[in-house]
Amino acid sequence: MSDTEPTRLTNKDQSPAKCDDVCSDVLVVGGGIAGSTVAAVLGQSGLQVSVIDPMQTHGTHLAAALTPVISSDDNARSRLSRLGAELAARWWQQFGSEVVSPCGAIQLQRPEGAKRVTDLKAQAQTFAQPEWARWVERDEASALAGLPLPRGGIWYPEGWLVRVPKLIDVMQSMPNVTLHRFAVGQLKRVASDWLALDASGEPIAQARHVILANAFDVLALLYRSGLKDVLAGCARLPAMHRLAGEITLLPAQALSGGPKCIVGGDGYVLPSVDGWCVSGGTYVRDVDQAGCTEAGRMANWARAQQLLDINVDQSKGVEPLPGWAGWRAVLPGRLPAIGALPGVAGLWTTTAGASRGLTWSVFGANLIHDQILGLETGQALGQGLGQELGLDQAMRHAIRP
Ligand SMILES: Cc1cc2nc3c(=O)[nH]c(=O)nc-3n(C[C@H](O)[C@H](O)[C@H](O)COP(=O)(O)OP(=O)(O)OC[C@H]3O[C@@H](n4cnc5c(N)ncnc54)[C@H](O)[C@@H]3O)c2cc1C
Repeated sequence: MSDTEPTRLTNKDQSPAKCDDVCSDVLVVGGGIAGSTVAAVLGQSGLQVSVIDPMQTHGTHLAAALTPVISSDDNARSRLSRLGAELAARWWQQFGSEVVSPCGAIQLQRPEGAKRVTDLKAQAQTFAQPEWARWVERDEASALAGLPLPRGGIWYPEGWLVRVPKLIDVMQSMPNVTLHRFAVGQLKRVASDWLALDASGEPIAQARHVILANAFDVLALLYRSGLKDVLAGCARLPAMHRLAGEITLLPAQALSGGPKCIVGGDGYVLPSVDGWCVSGGTYVRDVDQAGCTEAGRMANWARAQQLLDINVDQSKGVEPLPGWAGWRAVLPGRLPAIGALPGVAGLWTTTAGASRGLTWSVFGANLIHDQILGLETGQALGQGLGQELGLDQAMRHAIRP
């Protein structure tokens, strides 16, 4: 579809709009990483998209990493992560290096005696696609990082450094995308449309399609909207839970300028952005609030010291170090839930990005885009990319809501 031929979703049954102001083709609840991406992808096809979110939750999330995963049996998760990385790399090209930049990533072999040790060298050697992942010994790993590293690891040339707030801002400013600063209290069916209401029951916006991209709140919103039967029909979504966590911005000068690529292992350290290297992230269970804490900052200093074989100079820090705290919505198997919700027309979700929301964002957006527009899936997934990488039944099954 060309940019000059806008696609409008016609709805013959549409009742008069209850909200005079906002009638769109698609409402997206949640303007985080997943919601802003699906809105931008649909907007580029000419659909009018309203994104509804009370706030920018990633305001101080200076940077994050996209790194594909591999596995010895090349399971659905690793194939999906490559598809996600490939699609993101293609679609992000329009944004430029101030927003996203390919820098590669090294996943370090865990130190001997560490918990849950997978032998990454053996894993890399059973994986025969060096353009995606290959083993590098310590010297080569250090050369790639531009800093001494303590061990060898797996080199992923397709690792990307992403400036999260910039990416979200640019996607929310794309053609046909309008942002509305409200929290959606509930959804209501009006003939064949959906109406989004605020917490006091006032209409916010109306459309034929609603995409739930409000992370963990997807579950509560379905309950608030009297749609718990939809949830009962979902295979995976009811098991969603959430984990808090924080990243810390360490001054690059404390890390000898910082690595040139993403260095991961137990967490990660990212290349310098505006003089800061992101170190993270912590995982905190059973809390009601996600916040930056002294314990979290200390853990992220220690993380950088473990990942880099240099003397991390904590005296170069400012007090307190800046950072960002947020949530990961997680499903068992750490794969997202993407697609149509069962039993009702026009209700979709892209959620549960866990620790890899960037990896799933463009993939999820394309999948929903194709289905809403009635395109054969895989066709618009990056010109046949779905077929190239084999978006097979197992992969589809693994991400069903
Ligand atoms: C410490 C930490 C580090 C991380 N590092 C990385 C990384 O390096 N790479 C990576 O890929 N991922 C990383 N993640 C995970 C990543 O942040 C998530 O996977 C991603 O944010 C999920 O995107 P999302 O759009 O589903 O949810 P979010 O980005 O959380 O967005 C959900 C949005 O929904 C809105 N919302 C909620 N309820 C409502 C409502 N009722 N009405 C309207 N809006 C609503 C919220 O305000 C929010 O803006 C990290 C997470 C944490 C916590």
